[in-house]
Amino acid sequence: MSFELPALPYAQDALAPHISAETLSFHHGKHHNAYVVNLNGLIEGTEYAEMSLEDIMKATAGDASKAGVFNNAAQIWNHTFYWHSMAPNGGGKPTGALAAKIDEDFGSFDAFVEAFKAAGATQFGSGWAWLVLKDGKLEVVKTPNAECPLTDGATPLLTMDVWEHAYYIDFQNRRPDYISTFLSDLVNWEFAAANFEVA
Ligand code: FE
Repeated sequence: MSFELPALPYAQDALAPHISAETLSFHHGKHHNAYVVNLNGLIEGTEYAEMSLEDIMKATAGDASKAGVFNNAAQIWNHTFYWHSMAPNGGGKPTGALAAKIDEDFGSFDAFVEAFKAAGATQFGSGWAWLVLKDGKLEVVKTPNAECPLTDGATPLLTMDVWEHAYYIDFQNRRPDYISTFLSDLVNWEFAAANFEVA
């Protein structure tokens, strides 16, 4: 068994002008694809060859001797989750049960926005900002490099890639502008709500 690059859930130019087709051609077509090619090479003929991506991540998280396998597996998972965390004409606010839970656990939607922006802006170097459900409570967390809250007993609901390759073509060094745009025009609250429902 080998992994395949999942298709984007929308056309390569569907997030423009916020995230350009050029960014997605590199980010999905080159970066995400490289993780798939690398992982397939690393796991061929090993105990991981017949495992799911999630099981590979859980089996290798925190093991320095397995960092290559973990990093590539987690980056495949994280990127697929990230594409679905955005949508053409995204942005706005969540509704229904997730909106109520955000108010309950953060105090208000605006307080969530502040926490999420801060997580993305203060992740030094490469990494991810997440909305997760852990022990029945919503939390905003940030992770470095390829790390994923899934291996920490949390259920990811939404993620934002803050590696430079996610925004440099469109925003250059202005990570805070990318983060603001992610929230105002891209975030897919329907995806987060669906993840919340089954969590
Ligand atoms: Fe990325």
